[in-house]
Amino acid sequence: MTTTHSLPSRGIESVTDRTLIGADSQVDKKAIVLPPGDPSATDPFLALMEDWFSTVGFDWHPHRGIETITYVLDGELQHRDNRGGHGVLAAGDVQWMTAGRGLLHAETAFEGRQVHTLQLWLNLPAADKLVEPGYQDLRAAAMPLRTGPGYVVKVFSGRSGDVVGPARNHVPVTMIDATVDPGATVEQEIPSHQEGFAYILRGNGEFGRDTAHSGQAVHLEPSPGEPTALQVRNTGAEPLHFLLWTGVPLHEPVAMGGPFVMNTRAELEQAVRDYQAGEFGPMPK
Ligand code: FE
Repeated sequence: MTTTHSLPSRGIESVTDRTLIGADSQVDKKAIVLPPGDPSATDPFLALMEDWFSTVGFDWHPHRGIETITYVLDGELQHRDNRGGHGVLAAGDVQWMTAGRGLLHAETAFEGRQVHTLQLWLNLPAADKLVEPGYQDLRAAAMPLRTGPGYVVKVFSGRSGDVVGPARNHVPVTMIDATVDPGATVEQEIPSHQEGFAYILRGNGEFGRDTAHSGQAVHLEPSPGEPTALQVRNTGAEPLHFLLWTGVPLHEPVAMGGPFVMNTRAELEQAVRDYQAGEFGPMPK
């Protein structure tokens, strides 16, 4: 038994469509799910991009000041970093990368076969912008499951019911991957002060009182400062598959400059100087 039934329902602020854009020098196709232009609207998240790529993909590049959370929808993603890290992720797997004070990495399609991914940028608080970089590979098969009548929830981070995910966080974040059978309902507690959104990968259903379908994001209303619950019901004929991300907003100034996200322009300029001085480590061959 969980106690979520006694919680007030969390409202929905809006339902938005992804914006599909065509090929560029890196990808075969791209969609913007959460546009990066207004960090205060999505705090603590910065952007969510959906990509289909084979060659070239995302060759060696730096990051500082953020975490990137990459979810593989289809195909295999190869990642390498300049500290010896290397891995291949398959559908349903997640890589949670802490850029911290800076690293270089490459994200490419394994053996050139097209991979389909989602990448969420999560801001780091000012106090943790320059932490030691790190990777967590969170394999789908190893994630704890919460199951109930007609649903399975895979818990990557935070909690669903009594099930706790393994991700180590700088910002408290809930990340679940839920599949709901036609006609079934799942209820997810949203911890106090957390804000965020669901992204629908397949099917359609009711999120609170709103309806949404695959390719749409469902944005929660601002937190009332107490725990709430989101009810999701599959009103379609096929399985409903969605991801939900919520986190505690940082309420800090944001200075974004390409792959670096700091609090001030001076810190951004310092990031560029540090990168050019080789302080993110050597560029791999
Ligand atoms: Fe990157």
